[in-house]
Amino acid sequence: MFDFWTDMSYGKAVLADSAVYGWFELTDDYTGSGANPAGRDKLLADAKAAARQAGVDMDNFNTLVVLNRALDLFGGPGGAVGGDDGKNLAMAGLAPSLIGQEMGHVYGLNHSRMLGSEAEYQDPWDIMSTGPDTTTIGINPDSQMNQIAPNGRPVYGVGPGMNAANMWSLGWLDESRVWNEAGDVDVTISLRPLHQREREGYLAARFGEYFIELRVPERWDVGIGEDPVVLVHVFEGGRSYLVADSAGNFTWRAGSKSGIDGFPEPPASLGLGLTRIQVGSIDADARTATISLTRIKGAGPEKHFPEWWPRRKAFDLTQVRPDDAVLLTQGRELVVEGPTSLAREIRVAVTRDLLGPEASGPDLTTVARAIDLSSAGGDSQQ
Ligand SMILES: [Zn+2]
Repeated sequence: MFDFWTDMSYGKAVLADSAVYGWFELTDDYTGSGANPAGRDKLLADAKAAARQAGVDMDNFNTLVVLNRALDLFGGPGGAVGGDDGKNLAMAGLAPSLIGQEMGHVYGLNHSRMLGSEAEYQDPWDIMSTGPDTTTIGINPDSQMNQIAPNGRPVYGVGPGMNAANMWSLGWLDESRVWNEAGDVDVTISLRPLHQREREGYLAARFGEYFIELRVPERWDVGIGEDPVVLVHVFEGGRSYLVADSAGNFTWRAGSKSGIDGFPEPPASLGLGLTRIQVGSIDADARTATISLTRIKGAGPEKHFPEWWPRRKAFDLTQVRPDDAVLLTQGRELVVEGPTSLAREIRVAVTRDLLGPEASGPDLTTVARAIDLSSAGGDSQQ
């Protein structure tokens, strides 16, 4: 874990003063669980008390990690707890993939998600989505303790690393190594692998609210698959969210771009502006990815028509009311037209490029995504 946190924090989270003490015997029965957080707190308090009784003051340390028999697995401001039952039937709570997440909770991180969903553990390339039973792809067996459980998962999983948005939230993303330009831009930049700070060049890009990073199947990320990937995140409400490309893929490959396939770009006449992310090439051997970034500030707020920006809104059929006018585009995307004049204006401009029929909301069952322009409200009158 010393090496992991050194790499994830670019050397800022130095665990050099770490120490290991124990074993200490706890006498009370364990009652903690997700449903009984007080019992979890009690375990941490009991462990500290037992250490103090043996002459070790845990208050001198920032981060408390209690390792135990397989009682529980959790982490929070008070400390992290993991255990191992020795049966090798599933990933052990002592696996770096899991203790890494619990320590991440101690540092203040929440589980990572995908944009458009409130479900937890949805970023397979982030330590804050690991789990013994999840389909997290970025977990690799430890090189020495490489037992595989009956479910095919490593017992002592290692990795993946931490995404750039979570690193940033902890103050670990070295801004001098991050591309970040304000104002209108139209540039192509080259990224290096996020966690390989010994290489020259940008380790990530901050493009407005977006964090863009290159991940390669090496070191902590050796389990992410054969090919390097570019990932895009936003950070909001204390969490990182993966952002999909125009085809709905959360792995951005060469040619990936923001927006939604089949949806025309905003007509320049509307002056709405544009924010576009596009992956040029990914060179696995050179460990570089070229990313084209275009930002033209416009008069129209992005919220009026988010399909033209990397931000995506998950489709929710309950938002479609029977009297909404609905457009089905070539890409089988749904647009719900609201009452604002801007919405009408946009619709007129876009309709020229649409191939699909008009339909009423309840008739559409196969659509993928909606925009409720009516929610843009009265401030959109122009
Ligand atoms: Zn967790």
